[in-house]
Amino acid sequence: MRIDVVSIFPEYLQPLTLSLIGKARQDGLLSLDVHDLRDFTTDRHRTVDDTPYGGGAGMVMKPEPWAQALESVLDAAEPAEGARRPLLIVPSPAGARFTQAMAYELAEEDHLVFACGRYEGIDERVLDWSREHFDVRPVSLGDYVLNGGEVAVMAMVEAIGRLVPGVVGNAESLVEESHSDGLLEYPVYTKPSAWRGHEVPEVLLSGNHGKIARWRRHQQFERTAARRPDLLEDFDAGSLPGADREA
Ligand code: SAM
Repeated sequence: MRIDVVSIFPEYLQPLTLSLIGKARQDGLLSLDVHDLRDFTTDRHRTVDDTPYGGGAGMVMKPEPWAQALESVLDAAEPAEGARRPLLIVPSPAGARFTQAMAYELAEEDHLVFACGRYEGIDERVLDWSREHFDVRPVSLGDYVLNGGEVAVMAMVEAIGRLVPGVVGNAESLVEESHSDGLLEYPVYTKPSAWRGHEVPEVLLSGNHGKIARWRRHQQFERTAARRPDLLEDFDAGSLPGADREA
């Protein structure tokens, strides 16, 4: 998968050189390039913003540097024969909510381009113009407002990148995670079995795999009901096996 990120703070994306995503880049599973939007300005001050038409507080990102930056990303892309159009993701609190299901969908793409907004956001015509060259999706990390798109991009790249085959060593660890089947994950424990007066649930020490699986499934359901009852509205409770309350 190829990823390009355009930002006025390229150094914000530095953590994406670390850990699993950094290793995936080194191993050639992901190519990730970060571009400085200011490199596509033409004035002495490298200006990327201007006052909003219609008045109001704050500044708006000017369209031309964005068009230049995105054209340069397209020129460098050299898409493979039959590759899909690149997908331009525009982080925005006014976008569709980013979810694990969306992460799975985006992990299938050949080329993702992220446009990090700042100030009051990007001139809307950039999105209109981009539709001639990209599929375009405004995406929100959640119902709150960040100062810029960089933190949202880091979260999205990490969530999407770990679903690209080979990035997470043990693919099975992706299967039982929170949100993979609509429920939250069960609680997890490691050694020692007794720690500061707290014991690991006995069922986990039993070696009975069927019983452990039923206990974990039940814990998923209980935890989801307690912490995220909204998730249960879309969940098919009929798919739950009989919960084992013994443990
Ligand atoms: N005026 C915009 C609004 O009310 O929709 C908010 C602009 S925000 C201060 C600046 C930039 O931060 C946005 O253009 C976007 O790139 C990013 N951003 C802020 N909140 C976000 C969120 N919840 N999800 C994704 N990106 C966000």
